[in-house]
Amino acid sequence: MIFNSIRWRLQLWHGLILVVVLVAFGVTAYQVARDNQLRRIDHELEQRLMTLFRPPPPPEPRGEAESARPGGARGPKRPDWSEFAAWLTQSVANAGATDATQTNGFYYVLWHEDGAVAARSPNGPPAVPAPERAGRFEASFRGDEPGRKEPGGPGGPPSLPRSRNTVREIYRFMPRGECLLAGHFMGPELAAMHRLALWLVIAGAGVLTLGLAGGWWLASRAIAPIDEISATATRIAGGDLSQRISSAETDNELGRLATVLNSTFARLEAAFAQQARFTADASHELRTPLAIILSQTQGALARDRTSAEYREALQACQRAAQRMRNLAESLLTLARLDAGQEPLERKTLNLADVARGCVELVRPLAAERTIEIQCDLPSVPCLGDADRLGQVAMNLLANAIQFNHERGTVRIAARTENGSVALSVTDTGPGIPAEDVPHIFERFYRVDKSRSRAQGRTGLGLSISKAIVEAHGGSIEVSSVPGAGSTFTVKLPAPP
Ligand code: ADP
Repeated sequence: MIFNSIRWRLQLWHGLILVVVLVAFGVTAYQVARDNQLRRIDHELEQRLMTLFRPPPPPEPRGEAESARPGGARGPKRPDWSEFAAWLTQSVANAGATDATQTNGFYYVLWHEDGAVAARSPNGPPAVPAPERAGRFEASFRGDEPGRKEPGGPGGPPSLPRSRNTVREIYRFMPRGECLLAGHFMGPELAAMHRLALWLVIAGAGVLTLGLAGGWWLASRAIAPIDEISATATRIAGGDLSQRISSAETDNELGRLATVLNSTFARLEAAFAQQARFTADASHELRTPLAIILSQTQGALARDRTSAEYREALQACQRAAQRMRNLAESLLTLARLDAGQEPLERKTLNLADVARGCVELVRPLAAERTIEIQCDLPSVPCLGDADRLGQVAMNLLANAIQFNHERGTVRIAARTENGSVALSVTDTGPGIPAEDVPHIFERFYRVDKSRSRAQGRTGLGLSISKAIVEAHGGSIEVSSVPGAGSTFTVKLPAPP
């Protein structure tokens, strides 16, 4: 179904809006042109009507005219109404005579008050219906003396226009009821209007075609990145996580969407890679103790052994099993911390007390390696789970002792700084190579893999510490100078 496509829907709406705008524009333009045309014709008709209404006064001797007027007012003498009507009848009858060729297309008709034609110009149409008299015009003349008020003057009734087929007419009633009409054949004007309408239709169709083509091009351009995004997402769904959306324009909405999706895909790829690495590492870690158990049991069962040999084999199996249990517990803790399912207490505690407890636990280990532990542990209140934070401190202290020189030093310090509490563990060991520092908190990451594994270490201690600290809303970081030692610092939010 094509209307399920965004491109087609855009095109449809675009076309619809364009048609509505074009039709509205065309109709308005045609109406305006038609109104102008009619206004021009009406004006012309009005002028002609006025010309007939205002005949030049018959020439009179100057003195006689002034003495005949009441009050001696200056100005031309108005004709008597019956004289004027007779004059009008004559004028209308003569009007056609001046235009026998009918080239200007104007004609006049004068009706008596009883509706009979008083005069008509010969170039008019054969039958011109007399206009209906409207009561308001009669009222406007009631009580007027004929000739006192000029029909075409400011006090007279307005001229009224009407259209009949191809003619336009204007008429005006006299005070006594006569009606004078001026008309015009609109043939040329109507032809011009038809030409205009045709041009408007042709131009509208052209604009519509161009608009639809432009709209299609624009919609295609706008949709292209979405097609690209969808194609990339399909390839990623197919399993190729290295795919990225190539978007040249990053400044528009789709460009920004492509950037966000690319970074999401990158994180997805990294997460999948980490997951795969994690599974491989976990299998690898489990394989060694399993191999030990298998070889020990096979060796013990191959022939009869002395009880000391059986004991030795069983002890080896126990160590391997112990190692697997440590690993399984560490993995479970990590999985729970990742899922936010590890229950954490939120109690006010003294970080220094937690640290001191851990120091006491690792002292025998330090003594074994003649390592001195220095404590700088003033009282530092903190909000969190004492057992979990103790696990972090234990891991850092154990590492600081493990990865240290004989007769080295480990320093543990707690302090309050900038609205947070900090616990740092510094050793005087060989330090961590710069290229390993960014990976040190990754799961199963070990700088010296073979040695570390041989010592039964899982490579999960720092990952678990990081997960615990982050679950407390804190952070853990390391600074290390190869050959001089490392400092691990845990920062936790201070209690409110
Ligand atoms: P492990 O259980 O192997 O100690 P960790 O996650 O605690 O796992 O540590 C990961 C690796 O980081 C260690 O194998 C070691 O190589 C390195 N490391 C940790 N702490 C220190 C330290 N204080 N000095 C030097 N290297 C360290």
